[in-house]
Amino acid sequence: MKFPAPLALVSLGGAMLMGNLALAERFGAGCVVSDGVAEAARSQAETCRIKLRSQDRDGVIEVVARAIRLPGRLLLVLETSTPPATLVELEQLRTRISQLERLAATDHLTGAWNRAHFDRLIDAELARSRATRQPLSLVLLDVDHFKKINDGLGHATGDAVLRELVTLVQARTRASDVLFRWGGEEFAVLASSAGYRGAERLADNLCRAVAAHPFHRVGSVTISLGVAERLGDETAAAWFERLDQALYAAKQGGRNRVVVDRRGDSDVWAAETGASAMHLSWQEAYECGEPTIDAEHRELFTLANLLLDAALQGSARPAAFRDAFATLIEQVERHFADEEAILARHHYAALEPHKRAHAGLLRRAHRLMAQAEAGGVSLGAVVEFLAQDVVARHLLAVDRAFFPLFERA
Ligand code: GH3
Ligand code: MG
Ligand code: MG
Repeated sequence: MKFPAPLALVSLGGAMLMGNLALAERFGAGCVVSDGVAEAARSQAETCRIKLRSQDRDGVIEVVARAIRLPGRLLLVLETSTPPATLVELEQLRTRISQLERLAATDHLTGAWNRAHFDRLIDAELARSRATRQPLSLVLLDVDHFKKINDGLGHATGDAVLRELVTLVQARTRASDVLFRWGGEEFAVLASSAGYRGAERLADNLCRAVAAHPFHRVGSVTISLGVAERLGDETAAAWFERLDQALYAAKQGGRNRVVVDRRGDSDVWAAETGASAMHLSWQEAYECGEPTIDAEHRELFTLANLLLDAALQGSARPAAFRDAFATLIEQVERHFADEEAILARHHYAALEPHKRAHAGLLRRAHRLMAQAEAGGVSLGAVVEFLAQDVVARHLLAVDRAFFPLFERA
């Protein structure tokens, strides 16, 4: 690469990845950055001070460098007496480096990412999955009887099948799925945020889509697929082993099928976040069009969800549960009074039965509250009251009868 200023490409950890000719000419053969990268990586300053050491010169030289931040790397443009690189030259260089990095990460036959890129990516993906508690799954797919295609129609046709397969698979994956050539006629899809169930859906789709697609000059081609989700603290090697076993079972089972290793962190993580699955979620269809009533209904949903959270913590925090319950009942009483007044102003014909329904709900709420104070109310009873009595029976059935009053308004 012809570039006038000395350049050093280093990893954020400080490892020297590449230097240009100008670096060797100016600072000696085998010149490496020996110090200062960590600070440069941390700081957002445009220039930094680094130290250089070379094989054929004694001592360490300190120089000022301009730091260009690339993904996972730092490009240092060392300041010397040679004319400084122009911004345009620097920008061209940055583009060229990204192109080269992309090229080095791509499988040249198919355009999928290559295995080396997978190996570089996987540690960060695993760390991200753990930190965000988002599952991570792999789908491994292998062309069935691919050797027959090569033997019968030639290697070039085999190559074309692989390219066509990659196009087909890429069209059916989400933006967060990454396709790699795993080796030979094997490919892997890394599905982030997918547990084994989600990955199974993807694998089933791919299996069907490939079987239904007429490949150019070849016709019908099928694939076999294995699915495995990352599990606990297992090593990446152990995870891939389960993946391989699943694929092997798909081959043994007759090919053109998906086999799933039905284990994964997603089951545990889903159970842990059960609280949110239990929440009542507000829908537009619950709105009657009268602003006060709608605002109060929404507020009741929020308070009901807080109560569900408190009920989930149950015996651990009885006071929090009682507080949440008392707050909800207060708001329910206020809301019923407001709603009855509004309905009366609109001459609602069924006002009296509606008032009786409100009174009935309040009696049930107070009874539940008394049970809670006596120390014995189950999460199930709270959920049933809120979800069944308040939301399903009252809000979605009884209240619905007065909605036409406001639609006309
Ligand atoms: P199975 O259903 O058991 O997977 O049968 P198979 O014939 O597909 O299995 P096998 O793994 O024995 O054969 C894979 C073949 O794929 C062997 C290898 O020569 C061929 N192959 C690997 N890479 C390429 C490639 O880049 N292009 C072509 N055309 N063939 C390749
Ligand atoms: Mg094969
Ligand atoms: Mg194979």
